Amino acid sequence: MRSITCTVLIALALLLAHVQEGRADDSVLVYRAGDVTVMRLADKQGGVPPQVFAGADKALLEKELHGQICPAMFLTFLVKTPDDMVLVDSGNGEERQGRTHALLRQLGVPADAVTKILLTHMHGDHVLGLFSGKQAAFPSAEIYVEASEFRFWTDRKNMSRAPSGMGANFDNAERLAQIYKGRIRLFTAGDKLFPWLASVALPGHTEGHTGFLVERAGRRLLLAGDFLHCLAVQAAHPEVAVIWDSDQELAKRTRLQTLRQAAGDGTVVLGGHFANPGAVRFTERGAGFAYEFVQPDAR
Ligand SMILES: [Zn+2]
Repeated sequence: MRSITCTVLIALALLLAHVQEGRADDSVLVYRAGDVTVMRLADKQGGVPPQVFAGADKALLEKELHGQICPAMFLTFLVKTPDDMVLVDSGNGEERQGRTHALLRQLGVPADAVTKILLTHMHGDHVLGLFSGKQAAFPSAEIYVEASEFRFWTDRKNMSRAPSGMGANFDNAERLAQIYKGRIRLFTAGDKLFPWLASVALPGHTEGHTGFLVERAGRRLLLAGDFLHCLAVQAAHPEVAVIWDSDQELAKRTRLQTLRQAAGDGTVVLGGHFANPGAVRFTERGAGFAYEFVQPDAR
């Protein structure tokens, strides 16, 4: 009896070790496009509760979510090229228990090795990782942000145009402007920023919400920020918005257009909040879209 108990315990321990290892592996997923490597970092677990959806009736949410919270995550992306180490979004930071910095250390990437940080938009869960108290968490990085997005959040007169509860974003914008003074590079959505990366206008979630398209060796990877929060609901029903969208109608049009284009040209889409394993290819189905997960490449 004792030996059986012992065997069961060892088996359980191995299983647990395996599960923990699996989790550790899931926190960094790799996607390659030629000589560009995109590493998807799990900044923090998350979820989209049903009450956040706008324009969805109860029956639809029940059908897609079965009374559950929609699985989602907070994600950042480390992009390595032969010349650069670029971060797309910075996550929740130490203030909200974001893990991006810990994952970078785990990957052997010191904070001062990150040369550029591209922001999809300026909500807290995408910018707080830039700060270490009153200091820059990335001492050598230039911050790339879309011009209208930066202007919106750095002008408190716009507070009445933002969804309720967004006041802290104006404080964060002020901190960003002070702490990274002289190192902020404003661009216009649609600009090609580097030979291997173009910005893509995806407005609606915020004023100047932007995606970043990595195109290399025939592969297209779109780092799409918050154009879609919950795959389980908003792929099949792109007309469903979330209350965090600044302009829900514009966000819907952007979502539909982005999904249609990605389905048409086979672009692999990596959202800022997609559930594991994260990278997705869409196909048109009825009035909405079906999706399949794209397997990550070996590390
Ligand atoms: Zn977000």
